[in-house]
Amino acid sequence: MNIIVIGGGIAGISIAAELSRDHAVTLLEMEKQLAHHTTGRSAALYLGSYGNSNIQTLTRESFDIYTELCNEYGYPLLTPRGMVQILDHQQLHELDETLAKHPTMEIISIDELREIAPYIRHELVGAVLHDQSGYDIDVAGLHQTYVRRFTSNGGVIEKSNEVTKITFNSNGTSEVRTPHLTFHADLIVNASGAWGNIIAERAQCATIPLMPLRRTIFTSKLSQSYEPGPMVLRHPEEFYFRVDRGTVLGSPADETPSIPCDAQPEEIDVAMAIEAINEFTTLNIRSVESTWAGLRTFTSDKSPAMGCNSDQSHFFWFCGQGGYGIQMAPKLASLAADVINNKINTADASLALQLSPQRFSTHP
Ligand SMILES: Cc1cc2nc3c(=O)[nH]c(=O)nc-3n(C[C@H](O)[C@H](O)[C@H](O)COP(=O)(O)OP(=O)(O)OC[C@H]3O[C@@H](n4cnc5c(N)ncnc54)[C@H](O)[C@@H]3O)c2cc1C
Repeated sequence: MNIIVIGGGIAGISIAAELSRDHAVTLLEMEKQLAHHTTGRSAALYLGSYGNSNIQTLTRESFDIYTELCNEYGYPLLTPRGMVQILDHQQLHELDETLAKHPTMEIISIDELREIAPYIRHELVGAVLHDQSGYDIDVAGLHQTYVRRFTSNGGVIEKSNEVTKITFNSNGTSEVRTPHLTFHADLIVNASGAWGNIIAERAQCATIPLMPLRRTIFTSKLSQSYEPGPMVLRHPEEFYFRVDRGTVLGSPADETPSIPCDAQPEEIDVAMAIEAINEFTTLNIRSVESTWAGLRTFTSDKSPAMGCNSDQSHFFWFCGQGGYGIQMAPKLASLAADVINNKINTADASLALQLSPQRFSTHP
């Protein structure tokens, strides 16, 4: 088949690389460079306990594929980094439910917390959940590995090519227009992140419930140096931060609804995060080194939309990766390629069904 993939973030490049084993694939990206939007702005964390059960399955099953990709890349793509989730004294009744939802977590004592994150004010801590299934992801390395795999299979990347119109013929083939070029395809893969519904509208296909939510990150220099610590998350997801020697990276864990755009950080979100982290720790953050923001785009049930559109089987959704699009990319891309190639195995069939956008077919 001739396949057009729209979007050069992690979603687009990973599925393009998988599909390029069996098909002629062209990837269209509107920006001058790939990974300019959400993919280039993440916290770069792999966490087995994050997200709903579909996300946890996709993340867990990505792990072995990371090992393969790592061999291809020639450098580590995952570096261990634990995570601690901290409940205050008033939240102790939520402990059992949180543990049940996140099987990779275990309770540790405040003394154990002190050893790995000595800067947390222990009098504010009611309980500590520790997840050792965490890693830092080399996002640029992961993205680059997929680019190499894609291009070495003959895949073509066209940057600065915004898809402005898609016209389907009665047999399902389509014409895809950008301001300068026209392409012909047997299948369109919509991996345009926050722009997912705009692409659907440009193709005159039914939209799905997708919501881009802005999230902000800042980094600061600290006056003291610490051993690299775990990602610290204030339960349930109030703010988070991690310390690496003399630097802290933090986020207010904001989720501000946004239109699809080049998201920019708001000063107020950074200030709120710093205030919350300073109250919770002895880090005494005083200045900001860098800030950025990106759009985490969720479907209404927080699982990605992966599969054919309800009214156009030649339009394949690959959107709604939310806050987990990097960590689960390897499994999600290989699952999607199996669906497109009609090679889905019985173990994956029920997961693929749960991710199908057909679940939103009553969406107006
Ligand atoms: C602050 C923050 C922290 C995060 N932390 C983590 C984390 O720790 N771990 C994790 O796994 N995930 C994390 N995420 C989520 C992760 O970054 C996303 O799920 C993932 O990057 C989504 O990738 P994508 O390819 O779908 O979107 P994008 O990277 O946004 O790619 C979509 C692409 O489509 C292109 N496009 C749009 N319209 C068109 C068009 N008309 N024509 C051509 N191209 C078009 C865009 O230019 C863009 O390049 C975080 C996100 C943010 C913002």
